[in-house]
Amino acid sequence: MVDIHRTHYSNQLSDNLVGQQVRVAGWVEDIRDIGKLAFVVLRDVTGACQLVVTGESLPVAVQTPRQSAVVVSGTVQKSKARDFPYEVKVTEFSILAKAANQLPIDPTGRVESASDKRLDARALDLRNPRVAAIFRLRSAGLEVIRDTLRKENFSEVNTPKIIGSASEGGANLFGFDYFKRKAYLAQSPQLYKEQLTLGFDRVFEIGPYFRAENSHTVRHLTEFISVDVEAAFTDYTDIIDLVEKLVGNVIGEFRDKRKADVELAGLESDLSFTKIDRLTYEQCLDELSKEGEKLEFGDDLSDAALRRLGEIHRGFYFIMDWPLKLKPFYIHEKEDDPRLSKSFDLQYGYLELVSGGRRLHDSDRLKSRLVKQGLNPASFSDHLKAFDWGMPPHSGMGLGFDRLMMVLTGAQNIRDVVLYPRDTERLTP
Ligand code: ATP
Ligand code: MG
Repeated sequence: MVDIHRTHYSNQLSDNLVGQQVRVAGWVEDIRDIGKLAFVVLRDVTGACQLVVTGESLPVAVQTPRQSAVVVSGTVQKSKARDFPYEVKVTEFSILAKAANQLPIDPTGRVESASDKRLDARALDLRNPRVAAIFRLRSAGLEVIRDTLRKENFSEVNTPKIIGSASEGGANLFGFDYFKRKAYLAQSPQLYKEQLTLGFDRVFEIGPYFRAENSHTVRHLTEFISVDVEAAFTDYTDIIDLVEKLVGNVIGEFRDKRKADVELAGLESDLSFTKIDRLTYEQCLDELSKEGEKLEFGDDLSDAALRRLGEIHRGFYFIMDWPLKLKPFYIHEKEDDPRLSKSFDLQYGYLELVSGGRRLHDSDRLKSRLVKQGLNPASFSDHLKAFDWGMPPHSGMGLGFDRLMMVLTGAQNIRDVVLYPRDTERLTP
């Protein structure tokens, strides 16, 4: 029986292992057959190492289809190869799973594959070190966000994604049959997380949003991951500070501790982080008007307007104090100017990354806002009753995690930072 365990990863080969027996395991990337011996490049999750194969193992090794899974025993020696300081002189070469001779993509990335083909073979695509680096960064980003929020006394929660009625009202909901009734996929955990501030004070959820958006852009998917935060006894500027901290910590981690992966990802990303500018909506209108883009107070910032603003502010910036009428029913107005709301977006250039704000916590005011927005308070009765149980003033936000990863890895398309993207066309794999 073949021992399937490795003793070392390729990046652990070192001077003090020279002359010793090791077992390495991974996938065959390249085979160079030069007659009496062959050089084989074996890739594992940490990188690659060179194998020198002679004798009995030679005929097996040179016949191995590329990308087959193998485990190999041998002795570590110094290598003369340009790319490898060490190599393993093989004594035992075992194929664990043969790869097909014709693969759908070249996972080494030497032959460029169309992005649709790569998505169709995503698991194999991950063997490309550049792609793997992007997703390792994604995992690291989530870890930093969780750590930061825990340190700020947030509890992580999970709220249902199958819901019985439209949570925020309106369009963009996926509906489906649910035991003879109609159910929907949650667009966001907004109402649940607000209710949970009653018991937890501070909550966060990292989970999927589902939106039946018929958009064909590089920044919209029908399923995406958001970091949702809600905190009792806070105002919206506290949440702006928190967003700044979250983004700063992720950037700090990438810049200081994940340099190798950032370089491997090989994309132009912006990891120079300073304080984030805070503009108001009305300042944005002024700036746009100077650029010849005339908008009236109350107009939403169109894609074109945001692209203009993104040329003036190339990195991160906040847009605060949006007109109340542009915001959902649960957003609090500004006390000193009720035309405006206690709301903010975090932008990166033209791209919206976060929306957040102070929420209404008074049940009567919430009901009257529902009515003003053409919604029926009766359909929100489950939510509204929690407001009679001592609802604290609270604020929160939703951060589009995939979009943040686009910015921090320099990806031009959200599909490059999502393992199995879902959009209007794609439902597989
Ligand atoms: P947009 O105007 O860009 O469509 P939105 O204002 O509708 O976004 P929100 O409801 O504020 O989005 O959702 C919170 C965050 O989730 C957004 O700031 C964005 O980062 C992200 N997001 C929203 N829609 C999508 C989507 N379809 N695909 C990926 N991320 C999204
Ligand atoms: Mg938004």
